[in-house]
Amino acid sequence: MSTELILKAAAFAAHKHKDQRRKGAEASPYINHPIGVAKVIAEIGGVDDANVIAAALLHDTLEDTQTSSAELEQAFGSQVTAIVQAVTDDKTLAKHRRKELQIEHAAHLSSEAALVKIADKICNVGDMIDSPPKGWSIERRTEYIEWAMRVVGNCANANPALKAHFDALAVMALRSV
Ligand code: NDP
Ligand code: ZN
Repeated sequence: MSTELILKAAAFAAHKHKDQRRKGAEASPYINHPIGVAKVIAEIGGVDDANVIAAALLHDTLEDTQTSSAELEQAFGSQVTAIVQAVTDDKTLAKHRRKELQIEHAAHLSSEAALVKIADKICNVGDMIDSPPKGWSIERRTEYIEWAMRVVGNCANANPALKAHFDALAVMALRSV
């Protein structure tokens, strides 16, 4: 595994997300989330592909920070960039449409991008239990979990351990909201 690539991605993402906080009650530093996604892929998925781990660390940079694909391409190469692009919503679309498209696009993700997508949903659904976004009603949290189930349900089963972990967590999350 390329330690250098992974550390470079961690430092890049930390810098890009430096002024952002998560939506949860404790408003933790945003970078905790991509680190969590990378950790889930490595620990639960048993994945040691450096490009996938780096893409997990970078997965919200295009969507949520001032980062261009060209910048990622130059720093991390085309494979990492393609994975990040595949898990990035088109922010010019309305939120409702973006949510629908995530469900549709999930079925066409590469196996590498599917790993990042499933791990992202594991972390967000986990946060719905431990640190839900401030002000979200039970209905809104339930709606989020059910939507995440539909996205993950359409992802290729590239890693049964990750999918099984998500499924168990989603059931637990629906019981806990
Ligand atoms: P999202 O549903 O997009 O918010 C969830 C996203 O916030 C996650 O995907 C995650 O992003 C990020 N996030 C940050 N902190 C947390 C956390 N602690 N726990 C979980 N996720 C976190 O919310 P929007 O505000 O953008 O609204 C989108 C949709 O919600 C719209 O389609 C709208 O119709 C609907 N809505 C529903 C309401 C209701 O009451 N039912 C009310 C208002 C809107 P990432 O994936 O980048 O990690
Ligand atoms: Zn994310």
